[in-house]
Amino acid sequence: MRDNKQHGSKRIGACCFVVTGWIFGAAGLAILATEASLLAQDKVGAALDALVTAYPNTLAGHDANTLRWRDGTVMPASDSAESKSFTQLLQHASIVDQFRIPYPRGPLEKPPDVDADPGRFRNTAFFTKMYGDCQKSEVSPHLVSLAWLPKTWGKSIRITSVNGVDEHLRAVSAEIDALPDKIKRAAYPSAGTYNCRAIADTGQPSPHSYGIAIDLNLAFSDYWYWRPHDGPIAYRNRMPEEIVAIFEKHGFIWGGKWYHFDTMHFEYRPELLGTQ
Ligand SMILES: [Zn+2]
Repeated sequence: MRDNKQHGSKRIGACCFVVTGWIFGAAGLAILATEASLLAQDKVGAALDALVTAYPNTLAGHDANTLRWRDGTVMPASDSAESKSFTQLLQHASIVDQFRIPYPRGPLEKPPDVDADPGRFRNTAFFTKMYGDCQKSEVSPHLVSLAWLPKTWGKSIRITSVNGVDEHLRAVSAEIDALPDKIKRAAYPSAGTYNCRAIADTGQPSPHSYGIAIDLNLAFSDYWYWRPHDGPIAYRNRMPEEIVAIFEKHGFIWGGKWYHFDTMHFEYRPELLGTQ
């Protein structure tokens, strides 16, 4: 889409090291290069640790640059691309690319920086392996129904049981249900959970197609694409902090923390929250 083409030329480097050793000549540069690669390897290790910790039922472990699943599948953590544009990251993220932008847990102190969309870089092979390909009817067998805000709204929604996402969402539902009426009003009716569809501006499967996402009350929603976006996108949000905090506590990230904000959207991504 127009917005992503606009940002397509912005390069995001593979790492963020400031090289300060030029005056030390070739030997000094060699040392810096070694330090940089060690730091980069630390970041890969930390990312893989976070995944294995977050998904203990499906992931068995990792080595320096591969992720091992409990069924024996091995996946590369990264690819050979040293730098990718924002659009490339949205469309072709490696497993480690998913961690390029840290997710800021807790109340937002300021609107997200340009193109800071923590959690929107998703490795399709990883998520399809984890939750199934909805086009092949692999997701729906894992979906279970639960009553959303049973004391307040109570209609049935469908969410995956893989990784216990249904149980985590049931806990979210109970806690939101106990909030004051004027706060929880933003959480119902749900605008949808499972939906086998691609994301309009990336062509990649939506997290809704894996059964791990929920949209809340459309009437309280703000979405970047509905705002003027020929230039900088003006941030807007009406989702109460109390609701966001409950979702984050149970492993769900919030689309309101993206520059390309989608404030009714929450998805199960415990690896970005360190809660599991
Ligand atoms: Zn959504």
